[in-house]
Amino acid sequence: MSASALTPPRPRLALGLGCDRHTPEATLRQAVAEALARLGADWSDVAAVASITLKADEAGLLALCASQGWQPQFYAPPQLAAVAVPNPSETVRRHTGTPSVSEAAALLAAGRPHEMHALRLEKHRRQGPDGRHATVSVADMTPTPMTPSSPTTPRGQITLVGIGPGSPEHMTARARSAIAEADTVIGYVTYIKLVADLLDGKEVIRKSMTEELDRAIEALDRARQGKKVALISSGDAGVYGMAGPTYEVLFQAGWTPDSGVAVEIVPGASALNSCAALVGAPLTHDFCAISLSDLLTPWPVIARRLDAAAYADFVVALYNPKSGRRTRQIVEAQRLFLRHRRPDTPVVIVKSAYRRREQIHFTTLAAMCEADIGMLSTVLIGNSSTFVRAGRMVTPRGYANKYQNGDEGFATRDGEKAGRSLSTGLTGWLDTLQAEHAAGTDVAALALRHRLPEDYLRAVLAEPRDTGNAAPATAAATAEEGDA
Ligand code: SAH
Repeated sequence: MSASALTPPRPRLALGLGCDRHTPEATLRQAVAEALARLGADWSDVAAVASITLKADEAGLLALCASQGWQPQFYAPPQLAAVAVPNPSETVRRHTGTPSVSEAAALLAAGRPHEMHALRLEKHRRQGPDGRHATVSVADMTPTPMTPSSPTTPRGQITLVGIGPGSPEHMTARARSAIAEADTVIGYVTYIKLVADLLDGKEVIRKSMTEELDRAIEALDRARQGKKVALISSGDAGVYGMAGPTYEVLFQAGWTPDSGVAVEIVPGASALNSCAALVGAPLTHDFCAISLSDLLTPWPVIARRLDAAAYADFVVALYNPKSGRRTRQIVEAQRLFLRHRRPDTPVVIVKSAYRRREQIHFTTLAAMCEADIGMLSTVLIGNSSTFVRAGRMVTPRGYANKYQNGDEGFATRDGEKAGRSLSTGLTGWLDTLQAEHAAGTDVAALALRHRLPEDYLRAVLAEPRDTGNAAPATAAATAEEGDA
């Protein structure tokens, strides 16, 4: 394969144009130049241009098209109105009969009227010195559809392999066999090293961390030639891994399950499983994972999730907690958590789990930022009942709510039954809520007491209650594992 085939092809873009009556060519030209600059695109990348029929005689627009050698297309208002767009406008609809001109025209000209995601640039607006406006939207042109497989086309394969934390023993048998079956293995350098013993006779493509999309594009390229490609991720490929970007690239190329490329995802133990196993049993109750990486996610989105998880008392695994450049995110995470959790909440920082330089450090929410945290660390923050004993972090499953340890071993507490919901479970809680409400406590006070939204309590109280006795639990229901 030549080097040039590996660089992604230039985009083919469709421009949707809109403007006020008598907008000069210069304003339109400037708007288009700005739009292309934002996309890092060139004038020569423009393969189609379109607007609304009302503009078929718009002098400035026609002059711009003529000077670029573009043949503009003009769509009637009902055609434009049928396209779903991100920024419809009521004002535009009143003036033109369609809520969008430039966005809808770009999608139509690209031949992708039903694929809002094909818009590369939404409604870019520029006002000229005379106060008149030009609007530009840009869509990606339809990629060549992938050919459905037939007995004559080779069937390629992309396998997304999660290799677990990074020790051979913790890789699954399927992960090993998938790598063994592959013709080509693609992955981040560190992970490829971990499977060095499996690579004899294979094409190996080592990529750096920031080249995720390149890796996926290259995998697709090889698979289309009928090759079996293994894309390697640490942990699980679907947890902050290659599975997402790979499907995005596949869909961009028009992939369907019937195309000539099969896709398999091999699950692996994610960092949170590995780190939890090393420190005890921190995830035995509700937990969530949050990545502190703001490379592709705005900070307010991350901060809102941290705040919500902290408020809702989830045990939390923080992925990508800190890097050489990103040092403040972990401090902000701590600040958000301290608003909801005690300073002595247990925290464990696990670095390089199941690898040569493994480190496990027990600390607390108040002190965690003083610890050595890096790109290879996962930070586990306990919930309000997580405790540390004998060097183990444990989150109780809640057995103490139901059973007590008496003289004759474990016995169910008064009012509780094995195999049934707690007295404070849904049914029992509804009884309590209704009684409190009937006794005169208003919904606002109940909302505060139960820390739940008022409209939820109102809806629940309005629902007629089934007062009949529930049917006895079936053997199958009571035997369900973990339904404690
Ligand atoms: N797909 C991977 C996660 C990739 S994101 C998985 O499922 O585990 C990279 C982050 O994962 C790192 O910043 C770190 O937070 C975590 N991580 C990956 N491997 C780890 C290991 N061996 N020990 C501790 N944390 C790890």
